[in-house]
Amino acid sequence: MTAELIDGKAFAAALRGRIATAVAALRAEHGITPGLAVVLVGEDPASSVYVRSKGKATVEVGMEGFQHRLSAEAPQEELLALIARLNDDPAVNGILVQLPLPRHMDEAAVINAIAPEKDVDGFTVLNAGRLATGQKAMVPCTPLGCLMLLRDRLGSLAGKDALVIGRSNIVGKPMAQLLLADSATVTVAHSRTRDLPDLCRRADIVVAAVGRARFVQGDWIKPGATVIDVGINRTGDGLVGDVDFDAVREVAGAITPVPGGVGPMTIACLLANTLTATARANGLPEPE
Ligand code: NDP
Repeated sequence: MTAELIDGKAFAAALRGRIATAVAALRAEHGITPGLAVVLVGEDPASSVYVRSKGKATVEVGMEGFQHRLSAEAPQEELLALIARLNDDPAVNGILVQLPLPRHMDEAAVINAIAPEKDVDGFTVLNAGRLATGQKAMVPCTPLGCLMLLRDRLGSLAGKDALVIGRSNIVGKPMAQLLLADSATVTVAHSRTRDLPDLCRRADIVVAAVGRARFVQGDWIKPGATVIDVGINRTGDGLVGDVDFDAVREVAGAITPVPGGVGPMTIACLLANTLTATARANGLPEPE
């Protein structure tokens, strides 16, 4: 059996299309244009690429994009002052500070300076807490994208055995919360987990967010399982995921490719969150 490919690129394109339609309607009916501010500190090449593609996607759906660049040596106070200005700016509905930050900055302090209602990355303590307690939250974009792909493929996730490999604040933990909120039975694995292959073989859903190229092996997968590969690893043979794609594809029921799976969903969900933030800020119904 060869797994079905979960086409995140196509799903994301359709989502961006729906967002563009909603943005046009907001402008026509209410004279509102959603605005997303992206802040980049330093010159990290990968971060620069992400910031550029986020800016391009923002404009393509008809939103206003604001880019702010600070030097790698900028003092933290300068970044906090910029965030304070963006928090107060009514043209800005979403604020994203590209991570990682330079070493001299306190990442948690910076992220938590973002107004929670503009925190479109969903990384503030308030939004993480809201997600964990089942309250209306801004949900981190990558796990939100994974959830959309899973729901689309499987319908209800209730009662499914889900294994999340990775416990980072930006992917693994919020992913586990989202799966739990959808009534899956969730296991979270990490570097100290024992018998990972064994845990994996029991899972109907595997979400790999490890940061190790081709880490998840074909003989770890339950036949027919749905495998979501979050990993982005640059290797000699180009971009590869955290899953040994060729081997896992022979066993799984469905799998996301890298590239073209989760990656495009992350940016589309950032736009979706910006639209949601704009609707909430203006007391309008939230988009589906
Ligand atoms: P982190 O490095 O923050 O977390 C990796 C997690 O994997 C940790 O919890 C770590 O465990 C766990 N881990 C490491 N080694 C093992 C092991 N041998 N067995 C089991 N678990 C292990 O990474 P991120 O969560 O930020 O990202 C994960 C991957 O997803 C990366 O490849 C990243 O590039 C990619 N990514 C992709 C995005 C997209 O848009 N597609 C967005 C964000 C990330 P421990 O906590 O014990 O150290």
